[in-house]
Amino acid sequence: MCSAFDVIIVGGGAAGIGAARRLAAQGSSALLLEASARLGGRAWTQDIGGYPLDLGCEWLHSGDRNAWVGIAEASGFPVDRGEPPWAKAHPGIEHDEHAQEAAQRAYGDWEDRLRIVAAGSDRASDALQPGGPWNAYVRAIAGFMSGMAPEQISATDYLAYDDASTGRNWHLPSGHGTLVAASLPSTTTLRLATPADRIDLTTDGVAVTTRAGTIRAGAAILTISTAVLAGDAIRLPAGTEPWREAAAALPLGRNEKIFLEIGHNVAFEPDSHAYGNLHDPRSAAYSIRPNGWPVIEAFLGGDGARIVAEGGPAAGFAHVSAELAALFGSDVASAIRPLAATSWSRMASIGGAYSCALPGRSNARARLARPFEDRLFFAGEATHPFDFTTAHGAHDSGIRAADEALAALGDRRGEAA
Ligand SMILES: Cc1cc2nc3c(=O)[nH]c(=O)nc-3n(C[C@H](O)[C@H](O)[C@H](O)COP(=O)(O)OP(=O)(O)OC[C@H]3O[C@@H](n4cnc5c(N)ncnc54)[C@H](O)[C@@H]3O)c2cc1C
Repeated sequence: MCSAFDVIIVGGGAAGIGAARRLAAQGSSALLLEASARLGGRAWTQDIGGYPLDLGCEWLHSGDRNAWVGIAEASGFPVDRGEPPWAKAHPGIEHDEHAQEAAQRAYGDWEDRLRIVAAGSDRASDALQPGGPWNAYVRAIAGFMSGMAPEQISATDYLAYDDASTGRNWHLPSGHGTLVAASLPSTTTLRLATPADRIDLTTDGVAVTTRAGTIRAGAAILTISTAVLAGDAIRLPAGTEPWREAAAALPLGRNEKIFLEIGHNVAFEPDSHAYGNLHDPRSAAYSIRPNGWPVIEAFLGGDGARIVAEGGPAAGFAHVSAELAALFGSDVASAIRPLAATSWSRMASIGGAYSCALPGRSNARARLARPFEDRLFFAGEATHPFDFTTAHGAHDSGIRAADEALAALGDRRGEAA
């Protein structure tokens, strides 16, 4: 039976677009199916109040080896290589400097102890000091990194990311989501608002069924999040249960952002940073006036993100407004107004922020990345061995899956000839 495309890519986030770019560069035909009405997935820049705000990925982590940097520069998107705001504390905040240092030291000590825990229980909470005075701070930072409580974090996995990071965090003033969405090659056939409902193997490839019909191809690359893969939204061929099980061992954590607009009568230092409450695991980290805009971006992880995910935007605004009033004085409350709040956990086609391996399950990433029957290939941030949780890890996983698919197609054509 004749296939309409060499490869069908399921999911139009950073991984799907990375795969499409590789296939296009190799002259292979590809169809990209995206469930939602826009490209980008967890890369999403929205113009809100006149500012291009990144609701999902924002930072070019490990910028000196991040594929999006080269893509940005080749397409004329400026890259800001300056220090990130979290390197510059907002002046005049009431935090006790010694307390801040002690909290950061406690986080470093916890990371050191993770190495011992990784060789044993692998449960990151076992590296917390029982009754330690800075455990709330460690929990909040682990929540930013993983979206999870330390009880649910694999120490091995956490360290794999940390050890590989180069610590360079660059920025795209026009938005990371803008770049990702603009990077699909013009030769890729795109169908938005077309979720794949079912994938079957055929004798010479795959058949992908959507509500608009069934499309055949030599191979499929699946880039959906682990939350979607572990659920039942897509019917996969018999025999793929171990892949679903690997996805379930890599659940998506909770991370949400809240944006506030600053009234012009309040002086906030541009491109600076503040930390909410050193003693509250639900605390947010604040980017103050990013790019000089009159905006505050609050980043919440784990227990903090749960406030937004479960209580809705109003509960999130109340939480961050109270923290900001405690930091900057009660006058601040009347000078800030809600702009936007994310709801990644509630978005059915995504279902959370980024993947985190459960204790003892860090090998699930490699298990998820394996091809199935040389027809079905798996990409997405969760499949990267160390750059998981990022847009560049997602991109690189798409390249890897595209290469695997091309090799399998080449082998099959060679056998048929
Ligand atoms: C709040 C937040 C902050 C972040 N900050 C950063 C950061 O600063 N730097 C960084 O590098 N990373 C960051 N990340 C992580 C980064 O955004 C992700 O790791 C990356 O974008 C994931 O890309 P992906 O292609 O693997 O998955 P996704 O972006 O989730 O793409 C998968 C796509 O599949 C689609 N889909 C689902 N089901 C179907 C179906 N049945 N058929 C067709 N399509 C389907 C989805 O709609 C989605 O578009 C952040 C994420 C969040 C949520």
